[in-house]
Amino acid sequence: MKIIVIGGGWSGCAAALAASKQGAEVVLIERTDMLLGTGLVGGIMRNNGRFTAAEEMLAMGGGELFALTDQNSLHRQIEFPGHRHASLYNVARMEPVVHRFLLSKGVAVRCRTRITDVDAADGRLRAVLARQGEEAMRYEGDVFIDTTGTAGGPANCNKYGNGCAMCILRCHSFGGRVSVAAKAGVKEMIGRKGDQIGAMSGSCKLLKESLDPRIVADLDRTGVTVVPLPPAKQLKGKLALKCCQQYAIPEFEQNIVLLNTGHAKLMTPFFPLELLREVPGFENARYEDPYAGGLGNSIRYIGMAPRDNALKVEGLDNLYCAGEKAGLLVGHTEAICTGTLAGYNAVKTARREKPLVLPDSLAVGDAIGFVRSQMREEGILSLKYTFSGSVYFERMKARNLYTTEEKTIRERVHAAGFSEVFAGR
Ligand SMILES: Cc1cc2nc3c(=O)[nH]c(=O)nc-3n(C[C@H](O)[C@H](O)[C@H](O)COP(=O)(O)OP(=O)(O)OC[C@H]3O[C@@H](n4cnc5c(N)ncnc54)[C@H](O)[C@@H]3O)c2cc1C
Repeated sequence: MKIIVIGGGWSGCAAALAASKQGAEVVLIERTDMLLGTGLVGGIMRNNGRFTAAEEMLAMGGGELFALTDQNSLHRQIEFPGHRHASLYNVARMEPVVHRFLLSKGVAVRCRTRITDVDAADGRLRAVLARQGEEAMRYEGDVFIDTTGTAGGPANCNKYGNGCAMCILRCHSFGGRVSVAAKAGVKEMIGRKGDQIGAMSGSCKLLKESLDPRIVADLDRTGVTVVPLPPAKQLKGKLALKCCQQYAIPEFEQNIVLLNTGHAKLMTPFFPLELLREVPGFENARYEDPYAGGLGNSIRYIGMAPRDNALKVEGLDNLYCAGEKAGLLVGHTEAICTGTLAGYNAVKTARREKPLVLPDSLAVGDAIGFVRSQMREEGILSLKYTFSGSVYFERMKARNLYTTEEKTIRERVHAAGFSEVFAGR
């Protein structure tokens, strides 16, 4: 029983882990030299309803990656505008921890291996075809999981954004994203809001060394620094570009909001450097990610696969998907939750067993079903969904799913009959 996971972001890591725990031989293929994808520059966990989702996964026996992010958090239980009880993992140290953990669990990780095509027939994938440097490779499997995300490549950032901003995806060095589902002939969905195709990534990072030491000291101590911006320096309308609707609130336009994820995470898609350097304390500011953070950021939510609530891609018998590939779900937590389900269900399919659909009495099951129905049945492609804010967090609260009571969450999972379901054999 061999499961091939393509894309080593948080969703791919979770899928590989979940499948391996069910006893499958798992190969995780990543085109760059590091795992975690956009999670290499993120870091915010457990804010608002993400706390509930993480605890549900822990109660279901699928919480190892949350335990790792907790262990590697620089700050816990912090608040910033619109967000409560957040933790921030150290983006510089997270990847090797996850990489080693997956290896220890028996996952075969193949970095610098870019899938470029598929071998498919009669509604099934037989193999994915890769290039590793000059060498052509072929990976055959029983079931495949597309976790290639939706970000980039440069052509999309050039066409729909402000140009390639040289982000962590490093497309020019490793080659751009390639969608397995699309290569297999699946017609994908594209997020759009008015004239904007896709959406721009919502944050960038400044080198701490380039900031006033007093700002850095405050940031290191508290995790959050909020610097009011004079009206003339506020960039009106920039937040509408963001994929992260949960941060599209006035406080993020009226202030510089910095979070300590190892670097100084600036909660805006981009900010012109010359304007930033006029703000006291930021006179020497320099971007760490993306390198052209003064101009723009990467474009995402292009290329989402139609899928059912078990996360099987429609039209193919043995292809699952997770993370951003599975719809307009933003976030590491969201990627880990969907990745875990996809990895588990890939093994179920390989065993010819019925895949699992999580019930809507759990936030994770409700989110997966809700996003699908919004996109597929309502045709809404302009919104983004996350446990941490905006539309879906409102729904969580309205349906009484949001809670920070760990006991209540465990009882809910137990009542649904899913305690330790992902725990492995
Ligand atoms: C700048 C930024 C900051 C963010 N901050 C946060 C945050 O603080 N908290 C939060 O919860 N969320 C944050 N997010 C959102 C979050 O990172 C994503 O929604 C989530 O991590 C997506 O995970 P994923 O696995 O679906 O996709 P990705 O992270 O995009 O991973 C996809 C992976 O697939 C690989 N890949 C693509 N094509 C191929 C191929 N053909 N062959 C092999 N490999 C391939 C890519 O190299 C990549 O590693 C942030 C996003 C960005 C861009």
